[in-house]
Amino acid sequence: NKPLAEVDPEIAEVLEQELNRQRHTLEMIASENFVPVSVLQSQGSVLTNKYAEGYPGRRYYGGCEYVDVAESLAIERAKSLFGAEYANVQPHSGATANAAVLSAIATPGDTILGLELAHGGHLTHGMKLNFSGKLYNAVSYGVNPETFLVDMDALRDKAKETKPQVIIAGWSAYPRHLDFAAFREIADEVGAKLWVDMAHFAGLVAAGLHPSPVPHADVVSTTVHKTIGGPRSGLIVSRDTELAKKLNSNVFPGQQGGPLMHVIAAKATAFKIAASEEFKDRQARTISGAKLLASRLTADDSRAAGVDVLTGGTDVHLVLADLRTSELDGQQAEDRLHEVGITVNRNAVPFDPRPPMVTSGLRIGTPALATRGFGDAEFAEVADIIALALQPSADVAALRSRVEALTEAFPLYPGLQQ
Ligand code: PLP
Repeated sequence: NKPLAEVDPEIAEVLEQELNRQRHTLEMIASENFVPVSVLQSQGSVLTNKYAEGYPGRRYYGGCEYVDVAESLAIERAKSLFGAEYANVQPHSGATANAAVLSAIATPGDTILGLELAHGGHLTHGMKLNFSGKLYNAVSYGVNPETFLVDMDALRDKAKETKPQVIIAGWSAYPRHLDFAAFREIADEVGAKLWVDMAHFAGLVAAGLHPSPVPHADVVSTTVHKTIGGPRSGLIVSRDTELAKKLNSNVFPGQQGGPLMHVIAAKATAFKIAASEEFKDRQARTISGAKLLASRLTADDSRAAGVDVLTGGTDVHLVLADLRTSELDGQQAEDRLHEVGITVNRNAVPFDPRPPMVTSGLRIGTPALATRGFGDAEFAEVADIIALALQPSADVAALRSRVEALTEAFPLYPGLQQ
């Protein structure tokens, strides 16, 4: 039982360097966050040793009396957080949760209707190289070319034309609320099940700052590591207890073997934290920071950089910068921000004229910085740094030191050693 640094200095070095990177840069990838130390503790605990196939009280292995407590707590907390009657906390990831959901509510060959990948949808919503596009007949809806909002009339027409068994609402890159009641209506009109993938905005829902899909959808899936800020993993909730058995059996044994009990314990903690006032405050700062970013990026003085934001603003934790008229393309903008110490990802805008590896957009998210403690004043400074960095003649060194000042004012994981 020697320490990592002794057993494997190369990997110990990776951990140290990564902690250092996280501490000294501004993390603005919309799907990332910083888990609390309490979550790190469970994930690095002896629970990683335990096999626990099955569900609490009905396991295929002995010695599950303690991990049962962890999983039951996670289930009850998830149900209470999202006002659901049912929760499955075993999915290893968002993608496995989605595979289990689809296999529970559809049969291979069925038609599924999801948001077009290039318009902000996710791989698991029907991309042709993904299981969802290979096993199912995937068709898609998109956003209106003028407003960049999901076109609900076109969606209704597509649903009537293609008669899907499942309609999928949810996104990886879209800055506005979806109208879940309208999705429900369309699903009912064509006899489809409604599945909402709230992976991105689940933290906002938990905080009561985003409409909840749970009352409208047959089933809701999510990741736990994005806005919720818990361990990297998935979750399925539903108000429909009749689906419970099918969903459970499609997670285990349908998609997975032994659940990751160390991760499930960490999920329980993340859900406990998500019910707190502190969490609500953090989600409020997340949204307010994104709104501020959107308005400052599009302010007259920064328009010189040609920056616009899709839909003109945001309701959520991310902004989609539109660089179609900027001198910098998505790749150059991502690289430029990387040079100043801000991590984002380039992202195609719908109807993007540039190739997918280059793109004309950036997806910029505020959850990780809100977790770090940022409020409006800091987000205003970040927005100014980004707007200046995207100007063709940016002073990279000066902007890098402004980033460094912010990271020093908000130390990450103080005292933690990897
Ligand atoms: N669903 C949506 C909407 C996502 O954005 C993502 C992650 O990018 C996933 C599912 C998949 O999550 P994971 O990366 O944990 O498989």
